Formats: sequence, structure tokens, C-alpha cells
Amino acid sequence: MTTAVLWFRRDLRLGDNPALAAAASEADRVLGLFVLDPRLVAAAGAPRLAFLYRCLRELGDSLDGRLVMRTGDAHAVVPRVAAEVEAAAVFVAADFGPYGRRRDDAVETALVRDGRRLERVGSPYAVEPGVLTSGGGGPFKVFTPYYRAWKDHGWAAPVSRPVGLSPPWAEGVASEPVPDDPAVDASLPPAGEAAAHRRLDAFRHQSLEGYHRRRDVPGADATSRLSPYLKWGCVHPRQVLAGLGRSSGEEIFRSELAWREFYADVLWHRPESARRSLRPEMAAMRVDHDEVADERFAAWAEGRTGYPLVDAGMRQLGGEAWMHNRVRMVVASFLVKDLHIDWSRGARWFLAHLVDGDLASNNHGWQWVAGTGTDPAPYFRVFNPVTQSKEHDPDGDYIRRWVPELAGVAATGIHEPWKLESGLPDGYPERIVDHAAERRDALARYDEVRAGRS
Ligand code: FAD
Repeated sequence: MTTAVLWFRRDLRLGDNPALAAAASEADRVLGLFVLDPRLVAAAGAPRLAFLYRCLRELGDSLDGRLVMRTGDAHAVVPRVAAEVEAAAVFVAADFGPYGRRRDDAVETALVRDGRRLERVGSPYAVEPGVLTSGGGGPFKVFTPYYRAWKDHGWAAPVSRPVGLSPPWAEGVASEPVPDDPAVDASLPPAGEAAAHRRLDAFRHQSLEGYHRRRDVPGADATSRLSPYLKWGCVHPRQVLAGLGRSSGEEIFRSELAWREFYADVLWHRPESARRSLRPEMAAMRVDHDEVADERFAAWAEGRTGYPLVDAGMRQLGGEAWMHNRVRMVVASFLVKDLHIDWSRGARWFLAHLVDGDLASNNHGWQWVAGTGTDPAPYFRVFNPVTQSKEHDPDGDYIRRWVPELAGVAATGIHEPWKLESGLPDGYPERIVDHAAERRDALARYDEVRAGRS
């Protein structure tokens, strides 16, 4: 009896899984393996890790308990497991992140040394990073032309195969248990493939039609909330894209999914942009990192800046390990342009606290806001936290949900509580900065960079 290894990473599902299909067609039985890499565990925040562990338990149940877990460096563990079951090949969905690429190359070298193969089949994307090139033959630097090329390229339809229908899974291979969840205060979404499909179905039926109108309203449950499932591959973007039509809601939703693919493509071409500004000239921006900056960072992180929308967003992050996209932009802009703190510090905080934390989407989302990244989001575009609040949460519902100190304040006063005639409600802080003054400061710093003076 021949065995193939399916090494799960960011593809924690059985449905529409090309690597699984390839493994099952090559061998009589498939060994499902997950490697708990201490380096990735150390880098993931508690919410993301807890969600991963829950997804692994769900996946294990779908494999009738035959998912094999091993802790260690993948380049040692994977060849060892492949040797244990005498597999000719290990199948994976390709990883395009900087660390994943290096790791997979090392694993491949070790496998080949033993006379085995690493087969990369599929990826976590509808269109793999690196496939599309601009008219000049180089990588895309701007989203809109990328999006056009991405749609023209297209993607395969998902393989329709009911969740839970499995090939014969290898039995009797030693496995460790999935570790206990780390302590998490936030309430996390239900984990796993079946939960992802329930969420997708609910979104399709309830919110997709009005998505273009309501996706920017943080108080409405109007977006898909699929991001944690896409992060771990509980659902593949192909499955989400399938069946999307041409209505305004569907068009806009398709383009949002394409942002995820665009950022993965940018990171693939420029792996160093995970940590450093994509535009090198912006690295000269003067940022604050003194004691005052530390105090301000703490106020931002804890949701006590005195700006209600910013505070609501940061408290949503604490409460749900997730934040609405519009508010992510507002809080990121506030950190970078009102508090003059380097974007990478905020990005690290997000990665530690988001359940959907994803290096490409997060760090390039931050760089987009900071004006150091790909798209033409000029540095001088400074989000006004009050205007944004009035526009996107006009009745203050979102703010009241997350900032109980403001629960009794009417819509007219909730966006600028420092102006309330009755004074600030008990327990709610004074503004830590004055947006108008900090905006001028941000623009002055930007001018220094442009003039080459910083
Ligand atoms: P929906 O509106 O339902 O969109 C569907 C899917 O499209 C999302 O699940 C996501 O996969 C993708 N998507 C939507 N908007 C974006 C976008 N701007 N960039 C990339 N992909 C997008 N997304 C993450 O998945 N992980 C992150 O770590 C992350 N960090 C971010 C940090 C900042 C500063 C900003 C501005 C955005 C960040 N995003 C991140 C993008 C976006 O905020 C989330 O994907 C979205 O809020 C998730 O909610 P949803 O699934 O309901 O989105």
C-alpha cells in the first residue's frame, strides 16, 4: 500500500483542495500532517493561535481523528514523517510569504536528498502571486490595473465535493494532541471549514446584495467576516468567488477579495516590504519614539485616545480580535499621522491581536494608510477621525456598542464629546491630541521628506 503525505498549512479544509486531490490520486492512502513550527507559534498572537488550534481540532474530526500533529522545524519533521510512512511525495499548497518560501525550499532540499519529492499544488489564492505582470513586464504597483489583469486572467471553478468526504487516511502514525488554546479575552468566531461555509452562505443571503452600500458602516453587520477563514484556508477564495454575478454588491465584493491577492503579489515581489516601507524615500519620515510617544501608543492600543471612533475600533479589536475595515483605516491613520508613530509598530500590534492577522494584507494595509506603500494613497491624505465618525457612524451605534462611557450621549454630540455642554461623560478621557494641529505637523514632516531635509 502506497502513502502520500498531505502537509496542511494555510489550507485547513477538505473541500476544493487541489493538493489533497493530487495526493489522493497518487497513492492508496493519504497521511494528513500539520507541523507546529515553534517559530510561527511565537510570532502569532493568542487570538490567531487559538483560532488555528480550533480549526485543527475541527479538521482532525473531519479526518476521523487521523490528523497527525508534530512539533518542530518543518525541514526536520516533514522528511522524518515522510520516511516513517515511506511516502514518495509530500503535497502542499504553495506558500508565497517570505518565511514560508524559505522553509519550503529547505524542506524540499531535505526530501530530495532522501529521494522524495515536494509537490506544490494550488495556493491560498485564486491567482497565484507572481503570475500577473504589468504592461512593462514587471510587477503591478497600483491596484486598479492589477485588478483588471486579475479578472482577465480568471481562475478555475472549485471542485464540487462535499465537506467531509475523504480519501482513505493513513492510520496508526504517532501524533501529538493539538495544544490547549492560549488564554484569549476576545470572543472568536466558530472555527473550521463547516463554520466558514455557514458564514459564507449567511453573507450571500443576507448582506451581499447591499454590500456596496453598507460595507463602510461599522455598526452594521454588513461584511462577510470571512477573513479568519480565508487566512487559514477553511474556505478558498475560489469558493467565495464562485457564483458571484455582476450586481454592484457582487462587483465590489469581488474587488475586495482582489485586494488580498494584490497585497500577496506585492509581498511576493518585494518580500522586504513585510517590515520596511515599500517606498524607500518614505523611510526618512521623522517619527516619534520617546516616552510621550510610548504613552500615546498605550492610549491608542487601549482605546482611550478621546476620539470615540478610534477608541471604539481599538476596543472592538480587544473584544472580537477583529475590526471593521473602515475603522482599521481610521485607527491606523490616527497612529501614523496624529501620533506620528511608525506604521510598523501599529502593524505589529494588529498582528498580535487580530484573529485574521495576515502579513501581506496587514502590513500593506498599514503602508497604504501611511502612504509608504503601493497605491496612490498620498501621505497628505489624513483621515479626520471626527468626519469619518459622522459619515460612517452617523447615529453613533458602533461607538455606543464599544464605548460604554458614551452610551448615554446623543448622536449630535457623540462624535466630539469634548464639546458637550454637560462636560465629558464620567470615565471617558480627554483628547490626547488635537487633530487639526497634528495634521499640520504630519504635513510638515511630509514636506521635509519631499524636500530631502529629514
Ligand atoms: P469583507 O469586506 O467581507 O471582504 C471580503 C474579503 O476580502 C476579506 O475577508 C479579505 O480577505 C478581503 N479584503 C477586504 N478588504 C481588504 C483589504 N483592504 N486588503 C486586503 N484584503 C481585503 N485583512 C486581513 O485579512 N488580515 C489583516 O491582518 C488585515 N489587516 C489590515 C490592516 C489595516 C491597517 C487595514 C486598513 C486593512 C487590513 N485588512 C486585513 C483588510 C481588511 O480590513 C480586512 O480583510 C476586512 O476588514 C475583513 O473583514 P471581512 O472579511 O468582513 O471583509
